[in-house]
Amino acid sequence: MNKQGCLICGKPLVYLEQEKPMECAICHQTFLSNACCEDGHFICDNCHEKRGIEEILAYCSTTDSKNPIEIAMALMDSPWLYMHGPEHHVLVGAALLTAYHNAGGSLDLPHALEEMAQRGQKVPGGICGFWGCCGAAVSCGIYLSILTQSTPLSEESWGLCNQTTSTALEAIGSFGGPRCCKRDSFTAIKTAVARTKELFGIEMELPQPIVCHYSAYNPQCLGKRCPYNRYHTMVKKG
Ligand SMILES: [Zn+2]
Ligand SMILES: [Zn+2]
Repeated sequence: MNKQGCLICGKPLVYLEQEKPMECAICHQTFLSNACCEDGHFICDNCHEKRGIEEILAYCSTTDSKNPIEIAMALMDSPWLYMHGPEHHVLVGAALLTAYHNAGGSLDLPHALEEMAQRGQKVPGGICGFWGCCGAAVSCGIYLSILTQSTPLSEESWGLCNQTTSTALEAIGSFGGPRCCKRDSFTAIKTAVARTKELFGIEMELPQPIVCHYSAYNPQCLGKRCPYNRYHTMVKKG
């Protein structure tokens, strides 16, 4: 796992309050964006997440893990999933769909993963701060929508999908920012695992406790205020 900041030069990202046209340093297409590095490099969402999503689909198709955090962490260790980035909007739902399937849930997994990749890719980076709706939470809503084959015209499942996003979002928001795609993903997955058990009786596994080993790569880590910080396990062991 690398990696923070700019994919070109490693410098920290800066966020603008207003979008402006920027040219992607990889594909050279121009997009409106709020984020670039201190030296002005901009990478579009598509270029940022392309290889990561390929890794997610390949790994989820072969693992037999029932533990979505374990699946997510195995993928977070890949060089193509960065410390922060919109690839997490696919990762969260894909890890959940895979673990649900492996835990005995009825699901056409290859089809579900393909759909997850398509929908998750449409959830832009940075919306946690700019829209007040973290993409890891949206990914939980997509997960449930795929499971229940929900559409805008669905009745009961329509409600369940929106509530699934909101439960994840409430938990994510309770810690305050700055954003951390690892903390937010772990939190979203935890809430969706509990909800899945409650709604469908399918029990996925979770690490007890969840311990993050990515904090050194995140200059904005909340440290001891993050529930997944290694510090908490050290304190418990005395
Ligand atoms: Zn740069
Ligand atoms: Zn690009």
